[in-house]
Amino acid sequence: MVQDADFVWMDGEVVPWAAATIHVASEAMLRGASIFEGERAYWSAEHDELYLFRHEEHLQRLRQSARVMRMSIPFTDAEITAGCVELIRRHGWRDSVHLRPVVYFGEGDAHAFRPQDIRTGVFILAFQRSSKPSLFSGIRSCVSTWRRNPDVAAPSRVKSAANYHNARLAQVEASLNGFGTPVMLNLAGKVSESPGSCFMMVRKGTVVTPPVTADILESITRETLITLLRDEMGVPVLERDIDRSELYVCDEALFCGSGQEVQPIVSIDHYEIGAGTPGPITAALQKLYFEVARGLHERYRHWLTPVYRQAAMVE
Ligand code: PMP
Repeated sequence: MVQDADFVWMDGEVVPWAAATIHVASEAMLRGASIFEGERAYWSAEHDELYLFRHEEHLQRLRQSARVMRMSIPFTDAEITAGCVELIRRHGWRDSVHLRPVVYFGEGDAHAFRPQDIRTGVFILAFQRSSKPSLFSGIRSCVSTWRRNPDVAAPSRVKSAANYHNARLAQVEASLNGFGTPVMLNLAGKVSESPGSCFMMVRKGTVVTPPVTADILESITRETLITLLRDEMGVPVLERDIDRSELYVCDEALFCGSGQEVQPIVSIDHYEIGAGTPGPITAALQKLYFEVARGLHERYRHWLTPVYRQAAMVE
């Protein structure tokens, strides 16, 4: 992921990459006490502009994670947005960008949560990141032997760094076994999500996806795709539990997320899905998603935050 960034936004200012350090005794380091967002900005050649995609919704989810973790974010949404814009502008990128705002606990008592008792810091990382070739060829998936964190122990709804230990176990196992992104079941044995994205399948013309109570992150891409399927493509969507064996009889399947975008799945546990190539609903949805993210659909322009026009306004 670390490719080409020269700067980091840290606690209110843009600093050189090498200066963005945190003490080893911080709670973030010792116990994974941090929350974060992963969002993208898309370059629109048509508009000569870079758009943050659904940035406001990412900030809302960051605040939701903070609330559950009893963290106080010491910056306003406007300040964080200005930080994202400034960071990209300093790099001058005119290509797809991945942004990662992080809120963390610094040094202090392990159980402290009040701002006066523990330092809470914020930083934003940004990288240029283009789509993976597997987006068009599809990936071979499997069902992980690891289960997704249950809400009663480590809520998946919270995008905390610590939740990604669970994700790492599943992803490394799948990679060692020669698969791409795995599907994780929850403790009830129903399909939950992947280590870093949500899951959707097509059965008999209906898109089916696990509900937000299936130990998933409340994915912004999932919500985006549900809207596009229903309102633009006229495809019915059902949010319901999915059995493991349904994975082996579905017509199409995909993972979705800000990072994975709309990723077709061509097999699961060696069961070929459909014709073993990305399905027609998946391909149409993927195309529409990228058009919307690049500002080509007026109806969804409110989902986009222009980076360079915004920067000009800030100056
Ligand atoms: N689930 C998990 C565990 C994730 O890490 C992500 C990526 N943030 C998602 C789902 C997809 O969420 P979003 O569409 O908001 O990026």
